[in-house]
Amino acid sequence: MIEWNEGLNLGIKALDDDHKRLLQLINSLSESIDKNEPKNIIEHIFLELEKLTKKHFEREEDYLEGCSCTKLDEHKVQHADFLSKLSELKNKALSANDYISIQDVTVYLTEWLLNHVIEEDIPTITVFQKCGLTQHEEKKDKSLLEKLIKITTDRFSFTKRIFLSAIVPLSGMLLFGTIIIVVNFNEYLNMKRTSTITNMTSTINELVHNLQIERGLSSGYLTSISKDRFKQSLHEQRKIVDNIAKNLSSKVKSIQLNNLILIKTNIKILQEDLLSLNNIRKDINDKEISKKQTIDTYSNIIKNLLNITPKIATLNLNKELSSSIATLSSIQLFKESIGRERAYGTAILEKKDVTIDEYAPFIELIGTQIAFLNTFEHTASEKQKTSKNLLINSYIAKQIQAYEKDIKNYNFNNLDSKVWFKSSTHYINKIKLFEDDILQEINALIDKNIDSTVTNFFLWITFNTIILAINLFILYTFKKSTVLQIDKLTNAMRDLATGGRGFRLSPINMNRDEIAYMYDAYETTRQKLLKGDIYTQLYLSKNKIELKNKERENIKLEEMAFIDPLTGTVNRRKFEELSNKEIERSNRYKTNLSFLMMDIDHFKHINDNYGHAIGDEVLKHFASVCLEMARSLDVVARIGGEEFVVMLPETTSNGAYKFAERFRKEIYTSELNIDGKDIRYTVSVGLSCLNKNKDLKSVLQRADQALYRAKESGRNRTVINK
Ligand code: GH3
Ligand code: MG
Ligand code: MG
Repeated sequence: MIEWNEGLNLGIKALDDDHKRLLQLINSLSESIDKNEPKNIIEHIFLELEKLTKKHFEREEDYLEGCSCTKLDEHKVQHADFLSKLSELKNKALSANDYISIQDVTVYLTEWLLNHVIEEDIPTITVFQKCGLTQHEEKKDKSLLEKLIKITTDRFSFTKRIFLSAIVPLSGMLLFGTIIIVVNFNEYLNMKRTSTITNMTSTINELVHNLQIERGLSSGYLTSISKDRFKQSLHEQRKIVDNIAKNLSSKVKSIQLNNLILIKTNIKILQEDLLSLNNIRKDINDKEISKKQTIDTYSNIIKNLLNITPKIATLNLNKELSSSIATLSSIQLFKESIGRERAYGTAILEKKDVTIDEYAPFIELIGTQIAFLNTFEHTASEKQKTSKNLLINSYIAKQIQAYEKDIKNYNFNNLDSKVWFKSSTHYINKIKLFEDDILQEINALIDKNIDSTVTNFFLWITFNTIILAINLFILYTFKKSTVLQIDKLTNAMRDLATGGRGFRLSPINMNRDEIAYMYDAYETTRQKLLKGDIYTQLYLSKNKIELKNKERENIKLEEMAFIDPLTGTVNRRKFEELSNKEIERSNRYKTNLSFLMMDIDHFKHINDNYGHAIGDEVLKHFASVCLEMARSLDVVARIGGEEFVVMLPETTSNGAYKFAERFRKEIYTSELNIDGKDIRYTVSVGLSCLNKNKDLKSVLQRADQALYRAKESGRNRTVINK
């Protein structure tokens, strides 16, 4: 009786229940046969079995059809085959009378059922699973995470998933590094551009400064009564301005303005302003323009120029650089304001009288200077602030402030326009030096920034290279450690499934990881299967040995059936069989064949005188001597109580006679002592050879006749009957 093994379940309840019920029915059939229950009960079970099998096959075929199984037809053929076989088995079970034949039917049925499940149904589980029929289907309401896991699992193979989880973060870092490199490179380009523009700024600064001087000289020239005063200085100053303007123009041309949209308009204005400068210079030469108009025009050009610096500060620079440029801008504006103040102050002091047109801007300029210095305070560094404080607290600054105070109070008595102009110019020059310092700081800062962007650039290139190397390393080790190990396991499992047991696996990681556990499980399975295989082989070889043993026993039994137990010679039946075969052979190959018929003389007397047991011993002695003398192809048989026959193949009558005589003499001369009794006996031999009459019966008859004659003629002799 076989019990249902849960491993045989398909996961489809109806089919599994059918299989279980079928096994139950077969088991109860076997039980009924065991109990020797009446045939009608067995017939009833068979009917149940037929009904259920039919129903089960129909159900199974429906499922297979529903799942569009490609092997449906194969299943159908096997089902039909079995159904016809089942009625055959029923008839066999009902008609057979012996237990073994009836139980054979249940053994066949059990074997069929298990075979049906293992060979036909279990391989179809994947079809049922795909079709959603099995119970182990995943639940429908899945969380977002579970859905995500399913999508990833569907789309990417196991090895790809592990690979991605290692590579994606690293690739992210690689991307991050690349972005930083691009940003750095942009910064570097920006710095290079800023450097060019700052370079332009210093030229602008130079231009502003010299325009301021030109403005002062122009103003002096216009107010001077003498025609030649200032003329020469003005001429030279204009040359300086023109040179710087030329220099600036070439720098502007070298800058790709597309990248600097912000200051593009300022550059355009600058170019226009430089053109307008030539017109105003002509008017100044001819003194056809008022001093105020002159100062305003110059101031406007300067103002436009000074507008460029704060715009540069708003370019995409770092904070420190922006602050420095803003600081420079505030000092430029401060210087310009002092320059304008110089012009207004000179005019006021030369007339020693003040019109509201001159006084108001003068006072206003003092106000704007404070405002510029405040702006400066916001952006300047501590060092710059100290320099500024030294500047505005210098002797020359104090002198300017004293003049400012007196002019403000209309106290012109002690004031000299020349002293004012000189002091202001001196002060402006000092501010110019301060400006130059700031410009130098800016240039140093730009150099530092360029250096740091270059350093950063190389640092990030190194970082990216390292990440790339790690990526490649992980790729390599991943392939070696995971993919190859899994491939090995897959191959080993396949080998195991096809009967191989020799694939021993040892994991790379001896400290136990998931793959090591998989390898362990494989090893355990392999060892169990190997054990099973070896035990089966042992069982089979044991069985074989038993079978062989039985065979030998049977042979022995068979042999015993034709060997005389007392003397070990063959019996009559066997002798006849062997003799007939030999006669046949002798006929075919035309060989000689002789027979000896031997009978112990007066054996009765031995029995009578010494007893039956000693008579037996004499028989044994007789046979043993005969068997010893005979060749392996000779046959010695006991055909009666003390009668023996010897068949001598390939022996002439002469040879046979010699053998008979040798034997007779051996018996005759034997000195037997059994149980202290000396026993002597003799034998008579009749000899015949196979002649034209080729049957055993006749040849033995002739030997018997010869024996008879030997007895008649006095015993202990050999008589030939040819
Ligand atoms: P002859 O010389 O004429 O052959 O005289 P015989 O006494 O040998 O002949 P007979 O055939 O009269 O006697 C055979 C005797 O052998 C008779 C029987 O009791 C005895 N005998 C037959 N089989 C066995 C046996 O297996 N063991 C013993 N001890 N005696 C046997
Ligand atoms: Mg005898
Ligand atoms: Mg006899």
